Amino acid sequence: MNYADVLKMIEDEDISYVDVRFTDPRGKLQHVTVHRDMIDEDFFEDGFMFDGSSIAGWKSIDNSDMMLILDPASAYIDPFYAEKTLAIHCSVVEPDTGEAYSRDPRGTAQKAEAYLKSSGIGDVAYMGPEAEFFLFDDVRFSVEMNKVSFQIDAQDASWNSDTEYEMGNSGHRPGIKGGYFPVNPIDDAQDIRSEMLSTMKNIGMKVDKHHHEVASCQHELGLVFDTLTKQADELQKYKYVIHNVAHAYGKSATFMPKPYYGDNGTGMHVNMSIWKDGKPLFAGDKYADLSQEALWFIGGILKHAKTLNAFTNPATNSYKRLIPGFEAPVLRAYSASNRSGAVRIPWTESPKAKRVEARFPDPAANPYLCFAALLMAGLDGIKNKIDPGPASDKDLYDLPPEELDGIPTVCSSLREALECLESDHDFLLAGDVFTKDQIDGYLAIKWEEVYAFEHMPHPIEYKMYYSC
Ligand code: GLU
Ligand code: MG
Ligand code: MG
Repeated sequence: MNYADVLKMIEDEDISYVDVRFTDPRGKLQHVTVHRDMIDEDFFEDGFMFDGSSIAGWKSIDNSDMMLILDPASAYIDPFYAEKTLAIHCSVVEPDTGEAYSRDPRGTAQKAEAYLKSSGIGDVAYMGPEAEFFLFDDVRFSVEMNKVSFQIDAQDASWNSDTEYEMGNSGHRPGIKGGYFPVNPIDDAQDIRSEMLSTMKNIGMKVDKHHHEVASCQHELGLVFDTLTKQADELQKYKYVIHNVAHAYGKSATFMPKPYYGDNGTGMHVNMSIWKDGKPLFAGDKYADLSQEALWFIGGILKHAKTLNAFTNPATNSYKRLIPGFEAPVLRAYSASNRSGAVRIPWTESPKAKRVEARFPDPAANPYLCFAALLMAGLDGIKNKIDPGPASDKDLYDLPPEELDGIPTVCSSLREALECLESDHDFLLAGDVFTKDQIDGYLAIKWEEVYAFEHMPHPIEYKMYYSC
């Protein structure tokens, strides 16, 4: 769709509003709604001005004007508003020069795609994210000075600040790690998931399936892969639809990586492939029918994984998921078969479907920055012929300590990930895809989160230390 198509659609569909959407550095979709009377060709060509100083990590109050440029190809009719509204995703530019704003995540994703082309390595990168989520009936939490309390009343279980499970309605409820995937009534979210997937389909998204996930009240819907920026847009829509359908059912969905203790956390595996001259670059005759380029790509991902963690696992809570025993990776290893390493090569007979799956990302990630950073690490691997070493086909959770020695790990805290980003980021700056200013801005907002988390007494500390 181009501008003319969108203007025609506004007429034909009798659209009342245009919802202008963009994504902040933390990954949250933001919006502002414009009446159709204001929408004409000039609106598309001139862009939409807004105050960038109120978006965390962007401009200062004394230099706050920013401009949104609408991407007509991303337009879709919002399925949740009472008034007929066309939603359009935007990139952010500097109003005086018209240049891409260097801290705009969507602009970074676009630059990563352009860099891939200019490198000559490939023409297009495809991303297939698998974002899981939990559905809860009710969540209440309050955070005050020296006091944290929160309670989750799930359909299946509730967790309180004593870190004990109380199984509520335990008849036909999945137990710990029991959700994958008995039929209803054990799986009691069939209708809500179907409504989520149908809503996505109705707004033009390419969807494939849905299912209950391993943890109690954990779910996953399947999106078909797409090109990098497009897929990041789709992931924003995926989260938006899931949050809003859940809300309409009186429930709340969360993409928080580890909402409760003792069961699987929430991952967002990212399947990746590169195509060149209409052919899949990752299919070949090496390990697991991969090409040499795919192995180098894996080498780059494993080498830079700890820096990537700052973007792929950007929450303090992310590191409560990256522990052994819950299908989330800890070791920087790769394998065709087992799911305990950071990178897996899913089995397929089709060279066209040959892909590399990064298993450490989670859906707290800003998808534009996450996909762009993964691609940049993989491209660094190809450019520098980084050998990923031998594959690890054993269950890495069960390795004896002497075999674990020498296998590097992913980060164990957001603090560590930010320190790694501070010291290892040249591969992100190649082609000016990321900029130093952008990384500094991102680090500043993420350090705030680390300090908030580290300085706040935690409920478990009361349990462990109150009577010391
Ligand atoms: N929930 C697991 C994770 O944290 C992934 C389970 C799966 O293989 O889908 O990554
Ligand atoms: Mg899954
Ligand atoms: Mg997977």
